Amino acid sequence: MKFLSKDDPEVAELIKKEESRIENTIDLIASENHSPRSIMEVLGSVFNTKTIEGYPGKRFHAGCIYADEVENLAISRGKQLFGAEYINVQPHSGTSANLAVYFSVLEMGDRILAMSLPHGGHLSHGHRASITSRCFEFNHYGVNNKTELIDYDEVRELSHKFKPRMIVAGASSYPRLIDYEKMAEIAKEVSSYLFTDMAHLGGLVAAKVIPSPVPHSDFVTFTCYKTMMGGRGGVILCKQDYGKKIDSAIFPGCQGTSAVNLIVAKALIFKLAMEPEFVDIQKKTLENAAYLAKQLDKKGYRIVTGGTDNHQVLVDVTPKGLKGNAAEKFLEFVGVIANRNVIPIDSDSPGTVSGLRLGSSAVTSRGMGKPEIVKIADLIDAAMVNHENKDVLDRVSKEVFELCKKFPVYS
Ligand SMILES: *Cc1c(COP(=O)(O)O)cnc(C)c1O
Repeated sequence: MKFLSKDDPEVAELIKKEESRIENTIDLIASENHSPRSIMEVLGSVFNTKTIEGYPGKRFHAGCIYADEVENLAISRGKQLFGAEYINVQPHSGTSANLAVYFSVLEMGDRILAMSLPHGGHLSHGHRASITSRCFEFNHYGVNNKTELIDYDEVRELSHKFKPRMIVAGASSYPRLIDYEKMAEIAKEVSSYLFTDMAHLGGLVAAKVIPSPVPHSDFVTFTCYKTMMGGRGGVILCKQDYGKKIDSAIFPGCQGTSAVNLIVAKALIFKLAMEPEFVDIQKKTLENAAYLAKQLDKKGYRIVTGGTDNHQVLVDVTPKGLKGNAAEKFLEFVGVIANRNVIPIDSDSPGTVSGLRLGSSAVTSRGMGKPEIVKIADLIDAAMVNHENKDVLDRVSKEVFELCKKFPVYS
């Protein structure tokens, strides 16, 4: 950072501090991951300054010869990796990708059935605070109160009653696999599009360690910075028939110029995702999540749905007499970074957040395995149970620091 240190020492210092925070804390945020160093190089490359509008071969500015090549590379690699008929690599984010999917084939006011936010859905699935709820008429399905799993009978019943033009599968916090085949079957019964938002699951699906929604869905979106490890931005996969509509929904429909450096990062992570090392990380991500759930269960936490099939562990902390907000704070104090989360039972009692959402991606990408997961579960429990005992918290903080030192992220 020799140029930055000269131009703006204040910002340079903040970047150094953030790097040190990342190195010295345990990241259990399910929507975060550590990216390979090469991704960071690409994001800071000269492609950052190229202005592109339109698509390869049909741009609105000159000088796009290499931008075209790199976008075509991202397109062909992405299609191959996910077995998709069509791909758009321009979305700035998961939310932009989702907006483009809605606006590609729907009219304002059309009906969409999606998962409710308190049961695990996403803001962009028609939450009242999202612009999506003002453009379309949403109805929501949830999980069964006992099993905490998606209730496909409810999805079917609501679909027949509500007659949506689009059904959305996919969630922000749902630790189990979704039956895409069944969702597709329901969508077919009511002649509705099936759109799967696999924002969190891109990397796991790319590595083929969990089932892919691509063969069953008309549209699939994901973000590149979660399990995918590829820096920020979103991607849309779809059937060939919708390709043109998706392209114009992204540009000029929902976005202007796209960020070429993000497109290059997508090309790069799609290449890396075909290599054994990436597949191994994704496999271990699943193993670590399952193991973390088991350890916390043994310590008396209630694991929502009783376990996990992906990188997420949803933990009900109320058996320990805590709420999610307090738990998040106690953990941050010792250097364990996680986020509070509503869990299905909370939706019955507004204003309470009983859960923590933990993810195994970032710790796995920095090389941690089962012995470290055991340690992390011990440290989490020690910090929560002894949150008023300064001596214990000091000891836990020190152990977090020592554990991180053994698994450097960037050096
Ligand atoms: C994270 C997430 C998104 C949003 O991605 P942004 O890049 O933050 O816009 C969309 N849908 C789901 C299900 C997500 O989990």
